[in-house]
Amino acid sequence: MSNEPTVDPKRMEKIVSLCKRRGFIFPSSEIYGGLASAWDYGPLGVELKNRLQRFWWREMTQLHDNIVGLDAAILMHPTVWKASGHVDSFSDTMVEDTVTNERYRWDHLTEEQRETKTSPKGNPLSEPREFNLMFKTHLGPASDSGSTVYLRPETAQGIYVNFKNVVQTSRVKIPFGIAQVGKAFRNEIVTKNFIFRTVEFEQMEMQYFVKPGEDDQWFEFWKAERLKYYDKLGIRRDHLRFEEHGPDELAHYAKAAFDIQYLFPFGWQELEGIHNRTDFDLARHSEFCGKEINYLDEESRERYIPYIVETSAGLTRSVLMVLSDAYEEEEVGENDVRTVLRFHPMIAPVQVGVFPLVKKDGLAEKAREIEQTLREDFSTFYDQSGAIGRRYRRQDEIGTPFCVTIDYETMDQGTVTLRHRDSMEQERIPLGELAQRLREAIKTYRRAET
Ligand code: ATP
Repeated sequence: MSNEPTVDPKRMEKIVSLCKRRGFIFPSSEIYGGLASAWDYGPLGVELKNRLQRFWWREMTQLHDNIVGLDAAILMHPTVWKASGHVDSFSDTMVEDTVTNERYRWDHLTEEQRETKTSPKGNPLSEPREFNLMFKTHLGPASDSGSTVYLRPETAQGIYVNFKNVVQTSRVKIPFGIAQVGKAFRNEIVTKNFIFRTVEFEQMEMQYFVKPGEDDQWFEFWKAERLKYYDKLGIRRDHLRFEEHGPDELAHYAKAAFDIQYLFPFGWQELEGIHNRTDFDLARHSEFCGKEINYLDEESRERYIPYIVETSAGLTRSVLMVLSDAYEEEEVGENDVRTVLRFHPMIAPVQVGVFPLVKKDGLAEKAREIEQTLREDFSTFYDQSGAIGRRYRRQDEIGTPFCVTIDYETMDQGTVTLRHRDSMEQERIPLGELAQRLREAIKTYRRAET
């Protein structure tokens, strides 16, 4: 299968099937027939998602010295969503098929369907109406309107309402950022494309507070930084592009907005948004809570409401992106094709597979011992069943970058075979150097062009 940048729905089917078969992602509540647009992450999927999250978190909070973290509650004071504009305008225009009662997003219909008011099933459509995407629930025992709260539709607002808390407690100075990863909920109509769009998802957001007038320069800085991040993650550059929002597409709060799009097997789609949100958010919260929210520059004694440059990426959508980017079917001989996930070793659910060549003559015990030692620093998997070639292939299919095989020479000479997933090359190395070699290989990993 070619890995040229093309749209390829069959590739998507194969990824979905691999995810189910190998325990990455399952339909939610599957034994009851599943719940539309909700998914569960299995043993390998949760490792991949957590590692991806840590990769992003490390990039933001550890590699930039002026970004701090936050973890705000999912349920917030209901006025937050009035101030943010979500109660009034966080809606999609929807229509209903008058025969089947299925709902469609107006902007997802073709021009012809919109003009003739006909559903994709060929039936008449209802009049378009606005449908708010926030999930409502009730706090406390009474379910009256006074107790209504919302499941947050984005994580960003938790950051804005904590701006003063963070400034007063963390000694941060503008420009600085606050990063947060967490669940968000949107009652969207979701029909296809696996985990791309779900009603419950995770976001990785970083809000960067800057001096007004310096916002354009920081906006450009973060556009460049975010591309560097995807490059570090080993994502193919020709599968990424920027897409600028035109003046009529800009959100009410935004001065400028770019999406980073990825070429998924079903086409180019948004992966992350980078927005210049001006002082809209802090000014609105200041207005609604009745307290000043601003920043005092201690050197110049200037007081101002900072501008915000936001980078907002989907974590669950990024999982689909790394799966799509990593998936390859590679011809490795006559009539022989291997399936391989070329994950960056930092995010691979299993980093090192450890195998004894055979179970007897103490090889299994030696391999177990080596695996136990490696466990301290790497995520490992021990496998002693089947031919060695089959064991390598099983690890290729889940993206394990390195495999170590223990054989008779290990017992005699203290060496092991280190096998590399991408090149399938094998090398003999002293056991004492193994951990260090693995650490270096993970740190210096670059995906080879294919
Ligand atoms: P769309 O226009 O596709 O509905 P959006 O532009 O409203 O998305 P943002 O509000 O900018 O999306 O959200 C930031 C990021 O959060 C998106 O780039 C995407 O990665 C992720 N995201 C948004 N909605 C969903 C969803 N329903 N499921 C999964 N991820 C999502």
